[in-house]
Order: sequence, then C-alpha cells, then structure tokens
Amino acid sequence: MTGPFVTRDGSQWMPDYLTAIDGMTCIGCGRCFKVCSREVMHLYGIDGTGEVLGVCDGEDDDFDGLLNRMIMVVDHPGRCIGCGACARVCPKNCQTHAAADTVPA
Ligand code: SF4
Ligand code: SF4
Repeated sequence: MTGPFVTRDGSQWMPDYLTAIDGMTCIGCGRCFKVCSREVMHLYGIDGTGEVLGVCDGEDDDFDGLLNRMIMVVDHPGRCIGCGACARVCPKNCQTHAAADTVPA
C-alpha cells in the first residue's frame, strides 16, 4: 500500500502497522490491548504444548483446566491504523510492525 499519508495539518505520516506478536515471548500482560482503539489483537489461551485453545472472552477463561498461559494474538490485522501505541507499551519487545508502504492492502 502506498501513500500519501498525512496528519491533520498535512505533515507526512507513515503508519506502522502491527503485523505479528511472538507468542513465545509475549507474557499476555494486556498493555497493548488496553491502548489500542481498533480491536486489532486479543488475548488467547494456550495449553502446555503451545496449542491455541481460543480467545479469552471471560466466560471460560480456564478452558476446562487446559489453560497454561495467555498470549496476545493479532487476529484482526486489517483494522490497524499504524499508530504505534502498542509498540510503546510492550515490555517484551515481541511485536513486529511494518511501514504502510511495505505491506499489501
Ligand atoms: S499500531 Fe495502533 S491501531 Fe495498530 S494495533 Fe497497535 S495500537 Fe492498535
Ligand atoms: S504488551 Fe507485549 S507482552 Fe504485553 S500482551 Fe502485548 S505483545 Fe504481549
């Protein structure tokens, strides 16, 4: 996707889209989710083998005792506006971002 991308005052702006989160490094702290206004990512539960159990929606977050830990998953990448807020709050540096002019629409 190519620009031009501009801010309200017409200054050049390059969105930096969130494209992936490393599930091996993510600690599921939820900071990125809290600052994101676009519902791009959600917490998912994984079992002891690393198998994804499903989204943690508050109804069965224990997954019948199979839950080992939670990780953040980029399940709606197309919603991202590339603001970069999630990258600034991540304590584990486990996110991958890509400039808007390098990713397909
Ligand atoms: S870059 Fe902004 S819009 Fe995209 S996932 Fe991060 S916080 Fe949400
Ligand atoms: S802020 Fe970083 S470590 Fe915390 S849930 Fe998001 S990606 Fe994972």
